[in-house]
This record gives sequence, structure tokens and C-alpha cells, in this order.
Amino acid sequence: MKNVKFDFPGEIPLIGDPEVLVAGGGPAGIAAACCAARRGRRVLLIEREFCLGGTGTGGLVGPFMTSSDPEGKTQLIRGFFRELVDRLIAADGALEPMSLENCDAHSSWHEFGHHNLTPFNPEVFKRVAEEMCQESGVELLYGAQAVAVIRSPGGERIRRVILALKEGLAAVDPRLVVDCTGDGDIAAFAGCPMMKGDETTGEMQAAGLFFSLTGIDESRLQARKEALGWESMRFEKEIAEAAANGEYPIPRRRLGLYKADDDSWRANVTRIPDVDGTRSADLTRIAVEGRKQIGAILKFLRKYVKGCEQVRLLASAAVPGVRETRRIKGEFILREQSLIDGERFPDAILMLSNSRDNHFGLIGKYIPSTKSYTIPYRVLVAPGVENLLAAGRCVSCDRAVLSAIRVMPPCFGMGQAAGNAAALALETATPCARIDVEELRRRLRAENVVLP
Ligand SMILES: Cc1cc2nc3c(=O)[nH]c(=O)nc-3n(C[C@H](O)[C@H](O)[C@H](O)COP(=O)(O)OP(=O)(O)OC[C@H]3O[C@@H](n4cnc5c(N)ncnc54)[C@H](O)[C@@H]3O)c2cc1C
Repeated sequence: MKNVKFDFPGEIPLIGDPEVLVAGGGPAGIAAACCAARRGRRVLLIEREFCLGGTGTGGLVGPFMTSSDPEGKTQLIRGFFRELVDRLIAADGALEPMSLENCDAHSSWHEFGHHNLTPFNPEVFKRVAEEMCQESGVELLYGAQAVAVIRSPGGERIRRVILALKEGLAAVDPRLVVDCTGDGDIAAFAGCPMMKGDETTGEMQAAGLFFSLTGIDESRLQARKEALGWESMRFEKEIAEAAANGEYPIPRRRLGLYKADDDSWRANVTRIPDVDGTRSADLTRIAVEGRKQIGAILKFLRKYVKGCEQVRLLASAAVPGVRETRRIKGEFILREQSLIDGERFPDAILMLSNSRDNHFGLIGKYIPSTKSYTIPYRVLVAPGVENLLAAGRCVSCDRAVLSAIRVMPPCFGMGQAAGNAAALALETATPCARIDVEELRRRLRAENVVLP
């Protein structure tokens, strides 16, 4: 990064010309940045917050959802994700996913689709992710939000990205950009065709604000599960009773309590519908309304749920939990039927079996996967801009597919593919849409990625 003088009012100073600019330091961005840098590229990773991990740290979301096949026998999402998990375990910051099954406290006692989760400590995740970026040679810039994009005169490339820094506005001139902002900010600013929420109505899945808590008597909850079955662990009966007494002002009428890697728990309980996570006013509403709901949930737990009389709040998320906003509208859109059929694409860059978890309306619908399926390279390719890729929550898919692949292990996997694809595109001076995908797949396999 150039150490330039900021002189206002004046021209926006140019502070860097990275070969690869990765925008957003969540699961997709961490993997994309490390993997491109490990292929010898000069990589700048910009992140508007002051830690890596995205929704998994600032958003307090966890555990990492399943990374295995539907039977829980083989880990499918390996590569960079497996490397990170190994390092988290070595740092005492995660539990081994292949040792965990459905129906225990770590999986909120779910009977379907919640095997082989990875409970992790977000503080350890932040530190380990920074270490991995530094070791890979990634240049990191926090407090840096991409706010605009300038395209080349003919419009076929991104020439400049404008950042809002503490100092003011600054510019970078990257050779290639990987959009890992979750919301597809770079692609949208570049004028790419986008989809947002439901393709016809524009409706977006409900948001939530995660929180962590302690003081739960696990043995009493476990005894309840043995006596009443896993569905009782949503505590719908107690919620109905509290709601009848005017003591449950939360639209979602079920609890999701996930035991972490220590004696703390993460709660997926709050519900804020009708929000657009690309608007600051709506993000503010998620934060404020979410914290109000958390206060009410804690009171409810202490009064109505046996084993939770002593619960205490540890933290509420600093960053709103947004499930769905914009996705690039690529030449190919991955559709639900491919998941149902377990399709093996010739340009597959990831194999996975994550279930569809639709948070439409107030409750949503959970459809467990019975087959593994693949994600093709094509969904990462932004239409009409030759030096732009997307990875993570903003790739080219319909919203049913998004509800499955938006969880963190697939986002790491897509990031790994995008980082490698970026390096390959630069190495061969080829537009992202025309790289040698067989060579990409060969490199991914060499990095321990499972492909058909
Ligand atoms: C309520 C809720 C519950 C969930 N539960 C689970 C779960 O239990 N397990 C699981 O595995 N997944 C879960 N998920 C999904 C998962 O956390 C996210 O979908 C996943 O983290 C997406 O990864 P990503 O890298 O695409 O984006 P993100 O994690 O959102 O990271 C994007 C990063 O980009 C940064 N950024 C955004 N815009 C800009 C910009 N313009 N300039 C610079 N930086 C920018 C953000 O600050 C952020 O750090 C849940 C999500 C929600 C909302």
C-alpha cells in the first residue's frame, strides 16, 4: 500500500495496484485471498470491519454447518476449510466435526441435516484467520469499505475501486477483483445484472441477530430430549404459553440453542422480517430490534425453560445476520433441481451436501439433503466484466440453492476456487470466463478439494 498524503478537498488518492483485490473478509474472502496469494499473486484483502470471519465472527453465527456427505461418513468440504478447522482445533478453538453427530447439544438436537457440525470459538477464528492471511502473504486493510467502481473505457473490465477509509476516500487499481462482500457490492457497483431475494417478488429471507449465552444446565436439557424427543427442543409449547401471557414478542416461535466448543451457547432465535440488508437503515433496524428481542428471550428462558433459570448474556452480535440480498445473475444460474438430482457438473469446483434451509416468512422450511451435489465454476463468473469473480453468498444461483450453499463451509470452498481461478486468469492473461477449468480443478484437487 502506498503511503500517500490525503489532501482534501482534492483528487481521490491512488493507494495501491494489487494484482488481486478481494473485497470482504468473511469465509469466502479469507479463502480467496489466501489461495490467490499462495499462487504467488500480490493480494489486497479489504474489510470494512476490524476482524476477519464476517458473519462467523462479527455476526457471532456458528457452528460451521455440516461439511460431510448426507450419511455423515465422509468429509466432502475439505481443502482450505479442513486446514482452517485443523488449525482451530490445534489452537483449542474448535471441535472435530467428524466426531459429532445429529441430535446432541452441539446440533441443537436436530435429527436431520445437522451432523458433523464444527463448533468453534469466534475469537480464536479471528486470530487464526489473520495468521493464515499473513503467512500466505496477503496484505490486509481493515476499516476499508468498497463504495464505488470505475470500469474501463470500453466497459469490459473493472479499472478502479473506490474505498471509504478512516482518512477519507481512496482508490485502488486492481488487475482482478473477487467480490466476497456477501451482498455482491462490487458486482452491483460495476453494473452487473443482479438478482435480489425472490426473483419475482424481491422478498428476502428474514434476518436475525445472534447472541451467545452461558448458564444452561445441559444435563436437564438432555434429559428432556430423552423423555420428549428432539422436536421438543424447539420449546414451542413454552413459547406458546409465554406468548399467551404477552411475554414473547418475537415473531419466530421456536428456539435454536447450539452448544459451542466450551460451556457457552449460540442462540439462533431472533427474527427480523421485511428487511433489505443492502440498506443502512434496515441494518440498523436489525441491530436495534434484534437486541430488544434478545432481552425478551433471556427473560423468557429464565422464567419458562427448565434448565435455563440461570442464563446470562455473554454478547450480542456486532454485525447484523443477513441471510440473503443480491446475487450475480451469471450466464448460468444454479437451480434447485440440480441439488435434488445430485448433479455432477463437468466444471465442478466443490462437492457438498448442505440442506436447504429456507427462512421465508416467519418459520421457513428445512429440506434435508439426501444426495451430495456439486457447484460449477460458472456460478462464480460475473457477467460482462472479464476481471471479476464472486464467491460466497452472492454467487449465481436461485434462492432455494442459496438457502443451502450460503452456510460457511461451502463459502470457504467457493472462496478457495475463486482465489485459484483469479491466479490462473492472471497467469494466463485470460478473462475469468475463459480460464482452463480442467487446470483449475487439477489445482483444487492438489489442495485437498474433493471433486467428482
Ligand atoms: C441468522 C443467520 C444464521 C446462520 N447460521 C449459520 C450456521 O449456523 N452455520 C453456518 O455455517 N452458517 C450460518 N449462516 C450463514 C453464514 O454465516 C453466511 O452466509 C456466510 O458467513 C457467508 O459468507 P460470505 O463470506 O459470503 O459473507 P460474510 O460472512 O457476510 O462476509 C462478508 C464480509 O464482507 C464485508 N463487507 C461487506 N461489504 C463490504 C464492502 N462493500 N467493502 C468491504 N467489506 C465489505 C463484511 O463486513 C463481511 O466481513 C447463518 C447466517 C445468518 C444470517
